[in-house]
Amino acid sequence: DTIGVALDRAVAAYPDREALVDVASGRRWTYAEFAEAVDEVALGLLAKGVSKGARVGIWAVNCPEWVMVQYATARIGAIMVNINPAYRVHELAFVLKQAGIEVLVASVEHRTSDYRRMVEQVRAGARALRDVVYIDDPTWQNLLAAGRAVQRDRLAARAAELSCDDPVNIQYTSGTTGFPKGATLSHHNILNNGFWVGETVGYTEQDRICLPVPFYHCFGMVMGNLAAGSHGACVVIPAPSFDAAATLRAVQEERCTSLYGVPTMFIAELGLKDFGDYDLTSLRTGIMAGSPCPVEVMRRVVSEMHMAQVSICYGMTETSPVSTQTRMDDDLERRTGTVGRVLPHLEVKIVDPATGLTVPRGEPGELCTRGYSVMLGYWEEPERTAEVVDRARWMHTGDLAVMQEDGYVRIVGRIKDMIIRGGENVYPREIEEFLHSHPKIADVQVVGVPDETYGEEILAVVVPSDPENPLTLEELVHYCGGRLSHFKVPRHLRIVDGFPMTVSGKVRKVELREQFTRERE
Ligand code: ATP
Ligand code: MG
Repeated sequence: DTIGVALDRAVAAYPDREALVDVASGRRWTYAEFAEAVDEVALGLLAKGVSKGARVGIWAVNCPEWVMVQYATARIGAIMVNINPAYRVHELAFVLKQAGIEVLVASVEHRTSDYRRMVEQVRAGARALRDVVYIDDPTWQNLLAAGRAVQRDRLAARAAELSCDDPVNIQYTSGTTGFPKGATLSHHNILNNGFWVGETVGYTEQDRICLPVPFYHCFGMVMGNLAAGSHGACVVIPAPSFDAAATLRAVQEERCTSLYGVPTMFIAELGLKDFGDYDLTSLRTGIMAGSPCPVEVMRRVVSEMHMAQVSICYGMTETSPVSTQTRMDDDLERRTGTVGRVLPHLEVKIVDPATGLTVPRGEPGELCTRGYSVMLGYWEEPERTAEVVDRARWMHTGDLAVMQEDGYVRIVGRIKDMIIRGGENVYPREIEEFLHSHPKIADVQVVGVPDETYGEEILAVVVPSDPENPLTLEELVHYCGGRLSHFKVPRHLRIVDGFPMTVSGKVRKVELREQFTRERE
């Protein structure tokens, strides 16, 4: 089905159930009301001459209009391009040009970001860009007004021209390992993935999902919005951008049954001074993804946040995104040690990157995914697509993983982060996990840095538990002695306050590597 058809189905089945709640403004929509709002936006875009396959950009913090634009563009067969709200003019100009965006919908401003000013700065240079609509601004009202002049049956006529295999979305990857790539995804790709992620956590029309994760990322827009829409569940927006207290308040006030986040968000929520004052008993499930979750955090999420059925997902933008997921009744060990097992109708295999042959269970290799979820390709970059999607349609993820005997998958790291020191493969994740047990280490990242003798040497970047009394290299080496193989012992140490992060909550190791190299020069 197309995403438009899925929405029609939800409206037919649950017209009066709530579809969307915006806690900040107090606005709420039932499925019938939401579909009506979506149609108004869709008609407005038709009035602006948006044709099938045209690119409509959305550069906005979380708000109801974001979700409306998501469904409205799908309804008229336009391709929505999600733009990261953390981007600045340089990146915005790149995306506008690379994706050939004709109409841009943007927030006016949020906190220190003056989106309108940045858009106006690059507008003249973006050749394809014909129109900009700002949310919470008269231009938004103008869009709706223009739509009222358009015949309603043009929506049905456009719907008849669409196929579920049409591209509906260009999502840029997080940019953890380099410059983001624009994954082009079809209705079929993301609607199915959203549906199966929702099935796996047992969503029904009774569920109310609190989404503090950014909509621009697949975590919010597919695993959140589409998982909800394909089960008649309700999306609750706690705040325009992540705010730990606002999130817990929203769970309490809206009696949410599900809560999403990357591990750092859950850590922030659990760390609130008044954490104990929130009533979170309505929660039963939720999704954590993006990076590994520490055991202690998971334990508290399950017991103190009542999320007994919390689920871990693994995936990537290029695969719509989820490939593996833990099941509702999995235990703590599976939820922290693994990323679950493959979703229905998808395939996962682990191969030796050198030979491409499947490795035995229990041995590390590159994780590959095949099935309905694999993207159409990187937008207008067939060469880069061919580097990751092979002729048999396997997506080579670049992630190193182990498949256990029971079919559960453990992520060991990324190929790009793997350190080759004097011919030995070293997995940073293993060293990081070991170092976490040192009392003077609050957080640690391990990366490879160039070395004349060994090709690469190991650098530990440490956030100290006590900044007044940081760890020394001597102490570090001593701690590892006899407990880690000699070639895994870090030779360099840097003490920092924190790590450079992407908006989706991942540490940018490239930047750590570059910082070190710069300092040395
Ligand atoms: P880029 O491709 O631009 O460098 P990125 O790969 O971080 O950035 P995303 O598509 O947002 O962009 O993230 C997918 C990656 O996130 C996966 O390839 C994997 O490395 C990591 N990841 C996702 N889920 C998990 C998880 N549950 N545990 C560990 N790592 C995960
Ligand atoms: Mg990636």
